[in-house]
Amino acid sequence: MLVLKFGGTSVGKPERMKKIANLVTETPGQKVVVLSALSGTTNALVTIGDFLLKGDLASAEKEIATLENHYQLFISELYASDNFKAIGQETVSRFFIFMRLLAAGQFDDKSNRELLAQGELISTELFYQHLQERKINARLLPALYFMSIDENEEPELEKISQRLKPLLRSLQHIDLIITQGYICRNHRNEIDNLKRGGSDYTASLIGAAIGAEEIQIWTDIDGMHNNDPRVVKKTFPISELTFDEASELAYFGAKILHPSTIVPAQKYSVPVRLKNTMDERAPGTIISDKETASVFKAVAAKDGITAIKIKSSRMLMAYGFLRKVFEIFEQFKTPIDMISTSEVAVSLTIDNNANLDKIIEELTVFGSVEIDKNQSIICVVGHHIGQQKGVLDKIFNCLKDIPIRMVSVGGSYNNISILVDSRHKEKTLIELNQGVFNLD
Ligand code: ADP
Ligand code: ASP
Ligand code: MG
Repeated sequence: MLVLKFGGTSVGKPERMKKIANLVTETPGQKVVVLSALSGTTNALVTIGDFLLKGDLASAEKEIATLENHYQLFISELYASDNFKAIGQETVSRFFIFMRLLAAGQFDDKSNRELLAQGELISTELFYQHLQERKINARLLPALYFMSIDENEEPELEKISQRLKPLLRSLQHIDLIITQGYICRNHRNEIDNLKRGGSDYTASLIGAAIGAEEIQIWTDIDGMHNNDPRVVKKTFPISELTFDEASELAYFGAKILHPSTIVPAQKYSVPVRLKNTMDERAPGTIISDKETASVFKAVAAKDGITAIKIKSSRMLMAYGFLRKVFEIFEQFKTPIDMISTSEVAVSLTIDNNANLDKIIEELTVFGSVEIDKNQSIICVVGHHIGQQKGVLDKIFNCLKDIPIRMVSVGGSYNNISILVDSRHKEKTLIELNQGVFNLD
């Protein structure tokens, strides 16, 4: 069984949706097809939700009307027959009536999450109807029947597997099973989501839950590139990555994958293949446990980082100090990304400032606390990169004009992390592209 996920740009135009229908029907065997919302939809829903949370109904309605027009146009090109155009019309109307009902009521965080789910619900329904029009045998399996997260917002992989396996067994005679990415139920049984870009994570969770042969992530680029193509002009696709390498890149900002995508796939050793919907013949990237020996594979950058430095003479020759510091972050459910220590100070980074004030208040008990916001982690990934001769020399040589706030080497075999002020991110990525990958 294969799991194939198509992202927003891959379903964002009627002709692309039609192309995907061809692609999945040409792929042999039973497969689960995970779809994102049409490109731009989730952004629009976020904007609408923000207006509604602020009580600005008029601005929300303007956005809703623009989005509705977009969908009217979309269905007029997606369906061939008048009959299916009318079905599409019905579907779109139903969704937009529901959105306006949500908008009209008491609009809270719960309604907002319900609103955000509409993008994937509508894209899968429109796609399913397109398959029906073409008489392609398929079933729509609602993700809200099986995808769930617990009270810590962690996916419940065991439960997902227990729900999904019998469902798929009962659909053994159907080759094509369509479901929504991104959306799930939470521990209160409310509609929730796996955070922005979460359809990749859905695909990986399904792949792990059913022990799929392969998880394919179809997007608008020919695989994981050696650098961020949005920032750097010349980049190239990497043909093979290990789970660990891909995991570091996804977590540290390579937008092509949701940060947690690799975790379930790696746990159940299901290979992940990244493919390009716009160029099916491009080989893409295969992510598995097979190692390949290139020292420098890729760099990625993660923004929105805050560095915290705690200076304390109580740290000198003391044990148990770091435990006490870490416990504070644990108490406020705030993960730490990078850490570096000296005998009298410890610097660490977080990517979630929701509880920063409370964390600072607690840390002040230990000594002085300094905060630097708007930092970026630049992560350099490669095979046993931390152990290779000359690697640090090469990296720091090309970054000699950039002030570096923190460095982390040796934390894992395949990653060297560098913290810089976000103002220097672009230059850092460009310099590394030139100095490490010899590209201008
Ligand atoms: P989808 O809508 O299919 O989920 P995304 O926009 O989430 O697609 O991810 C694909 C985009 O990720 C690419 O268009 C590219 O601009 C961006 N990207 C950032 N870093 C990388 C990288 N290292 N390799 C490939 N793409 C990357
Ligand atoms: N539609 C969601 C988003 O835009 C999920 C996804 O595309 O992966 O974040
Ligand atoms: Mg994405």
